[in-house]
Amino acid sequence: MNISIVEFFENLPSKLCTNCGKEIEEQHECYGNICYSCIGIKDIHK
Ligand SMILES: [Zn+2]
Repeated sequence: MNISIVEFFENLPSKLCTNCGKEIEEQHECYGNICYSCIGIKDIHK
């Protein structure tokens, strides 16, 4: 089984924040799998 980490997350129904474990509704690929609360919305890079 050679499933890349990207494919793994794409197949998930919803992302979970790796920091707090909350569901991430708005997915930003640049942040991977960390929710806004843990990122800190002060710096938004698009
Ligand atoms: Zn979080």
